[in-house]
This record gives sequence, C-alpha cells and structure tokens, in this order.
Amino acid sequence: MYMSTRLFGTTGIRRIYGREFTLDMALDLGKTLGTYLNGNRVVIAYDTRTTGAMIADAFAAGLMSTGVDVVYAGMIPTPTLAFITQNRGFDAGVMVTASHNPPEYTGVKFWRADSMGYTPEEEARLEEIYNAKKFKVAPWNKIGTVGTIEDAVSQHIDALLRICDVERIRSRAFKVIVDPGNGAACVLTPYLLQRLGCSVLSINSQPDGHFPGRRSEPDEESLVDLVNMMRATHADLGVAHDGDSDRVVFITERGEVVRGDRVIALLSQEVLSVKGSGSIVTTVDSSQIVEQTVTAAGGKTIRTPVGDIQVAMKMREENAVFGGEACGVFIFPEFHLAPEPFLAICRVLEMMARTNKRLGELLEQVPVYPLRKTKVNCDNDKKNDVMAILKDRLPKIMSETTNVLTVDGLAVFVREGWVLVRPSGTEPVIRITCEATSEETVERLLQDSKRAVLEAVENKV
Ligand code: MG
Repeated sequence: MYMSTRLFGTTGIRRIYGREFTLDMALDLGKTLGTYLNGNRVVIAYDTRTTGAMIADAFAAGLMSTGVDVVYAGMIPTPTLAFITQNRGFDAGVMVTASHNPPEYTGVKFWRADSMGYTPEEEARLEEIYNAKKFKVAPWNKIGTVGTIEDAVSQHIDALLRICDVERIRSRAFKVIVDPGNGAACVLTPYLLQRLGCSVLSINSQPDGHFPGRRSEPDEESLVDLVNMMRATHADLGVAHDGDSDRVVFITERGEVVRGDRVIALLSQEVLSVKGSGSIVTTVDSSQIVEQTVTAAGGKTIRTPVGDIQVAMKMREENAVFGGEACGVFIFPEFHLAPEPFLAICRVLEMMARTNKRLGELLEQVPVYPLRKTKVNCDNDKKNDVMAILKDRLPKIMSETTNVLTVDGLAVFVREGWVLVRPSGTEPVIRITCEATSEETVERLLQDSKRAVLEAVENKV
C-alpha cells in the first residue's frame, strides 16, 4: 500500500495542495467525517499554512451539510486542538495541517473525544466512506451551525500550569530561546514560558505559512540560527517546534541539538523515580539508551511501529507512565494521549530548577551512541519478498543476536547495538538504521546489514 493508492499515511492525510489535494477533497472529507460520526459537535483548527483557513472552511461546509455543528478554534497548535476536543466534550477534533512537510503540502489529522488521534482502523473506515461517496445529507432545517472558541490556547496553558511546579520554575528566571519555525507554536510557547517566569527570546516567531525562517522540520541542519543564538546569548535552554507544534526539539546551554530519545530517557528516569515502576513506550527507531535508562530506573520498555498514534495506542493498552518518539514526540498520560511538547518543556524546566543543573549537564548521564543510516534501492513490488528473506537471514548473520522485533520492518538487537531495516512507504528503497556503543561496531553493523539487504534484493541467498 503506497501513497498513490491510499488517502491516509502514517499520520492522517498529507498531500501537495492543488496537485494531490483539492478543495473538493476537503469538502468530501468533511461530509465523510459527518457521515461517520453521526455526532453533533466537531471542533476544527489549522496551523500557519497558507491553505489552512481555506481548507478548514471547505471541510466545515462538508460537516455542516451532514447536520454536524462546527466550532472554529482558529490557528492553534495540534496538541491544543486535541486538548480542546477532550476538554470541551467535542465528538471529534479536526486539525488542518501537514505537520513538518514543506509549505506546499496540506492535510488533515483527526482526533477523538478522548484526546487520542484516530487509529489506523478508524482512518480505514473514513477512507471507505470517502471512496463510496454515500454521504449523509441534512435537510435545510437540520444544517449544522457555526461557532467559535477564542481562548483555546489560554485554556491549554492554564491546564498545563495546574500540573507543574510553577513557583519552583519561576524562582529560577531561566533565559529560554524559542524557535517555532513560523509554525503554530508562535501563539503558545513564548506565552507559556512568560507565565513560567522565563526571560523569552524568539526567532522565526511570526506565524507564516511560507516558512521563511527555516525548514519546518526541526533538526540539526535547520536549527543553525537557533544554535548560534544560544551561543551568543548564553541562554539556559533552546526549544524548537515543527509546523503544527506537536514536536519539540531541545537545544542545550552548550548549543547542542539533543536527540529526542535522549530526552525520553531523561524524562522516563524522572517519572520512574516517582512511580518506582511502570512501562515506557517508544518506537522501534529509538536509541538503546531508552532501554538502558528505563531498566536501570526499574521500568520496562515497549517498542511500537513508528508514528505517534502507535505510541499512544500502546500506552493506553499497557497503561504506560510515559512515551515518545525520537523525532521529538512526548506523551504524558496524566495530561492526555496526544503529543504534548509544551508539558515536555515544563518538565525539563522543572528538572533544571530542582537539580540546579542545565539540560546539557542533566544529559551527561545519558550517553549519545553513534547512529548511522543508509538505503538500498528496491522495487516496491519486491519489498515483501525481500523483507521475508531478511527476517530469516539477518538475525543469523549478526553476531550475538539478543532480540528480534518485527512490529515495524525488522529490528535485530545485538549485544552492543541494533539494526532496523524498513521498507519506505513512499519511495522504492529499503532504509537501514544502525546504532551501537562504538563507531567501530556501528560501522560493522551497517556494512553487514547493507550487504544482507543487497543480497536479498539481488536474490543471491
Ligand atoms: Mg507535527
């Protein structure tokens, strides 16, 4: 199943506006959700993309035509939409966003009344209705109404502050630099930090769907300006978001862009120090440092396929205490089951305030292991066969295999590292990711696994 044949990807719908996603599709998607829900109230919001308000209007018209009342929450972060959906008792939440994709993309992500994203099963049901085009039609006197929520962001901030040690953070008057990347966090993160007594500096903080400041995906390459600003201003912490702000990436006082899995390890340790035990959920591509830290702190690590919804579903099933993805997703079940980057910021500041250490110092106990990636060309129609061969072969050729996971692609764990082999969902390639405790081992894992994939592709087994 690839993008061309399916409407929904790993997380909702994301497509290029005008070419792959049209206004008519937005209208039909609104009718689809209205037909599926048979409910009476849906909240709708959008991020800073140029297409956001227009797509939301078309979607809302579709919903109303089925008799569903629509409430607009405006331009807000995705987690705020998820929060409002649950907190104000809506039947569903709709976020018009393409997350961290380039500016020409648009898309839609669906949220349930319990703050969790729509599961793949729920999305499949929507897709069936969308394709069948047998929509519910309300008569003229049963058309849905329109309303607005003006204070979604301040409600979200208030709820966050209620579960944080605000006084302790305020007492430290941290200097924090925010880089919302011209995305939805422009309207939230600087104000949250102000309420926490921080001195706030910001860059790329005017909402702008052209994303003039940097690429929407926050990574080492796109955050160069923020890193330079950290060094020039001697700030205590840097935070950066993606376009719809369901992710946060932290930058230490030393100007280091921190991998999300190290922060998951750190926050897991914190949660487990209070709870004593519990499950931590993360995706197959997270560092082994998560297991190492979680095990040492008395907890258990569970791995899922990639995608924040996979983490959320497993967290609910296992009653987990915390979860996240290495790309900067953090989920706190005490708040809700949506990614919650803002609470992650609060928790990091709490730790800094309590320990009197900054993030770089706190992370000294969480080592960075070398990570390497490569890819091998493979026709889409050969991928299943190649993966079947590898499932049998790869664990045998790796020395000292300790564990094999097939929840998403093939993950082989060895004593000093791991290899993840996954067919790309969008390109004719198979991706290989390796991590190990030393450069020498990671290089060996990469070469061995690449050879095995090449052999399987060429069918020389
Ligand atoms: Mg996102």
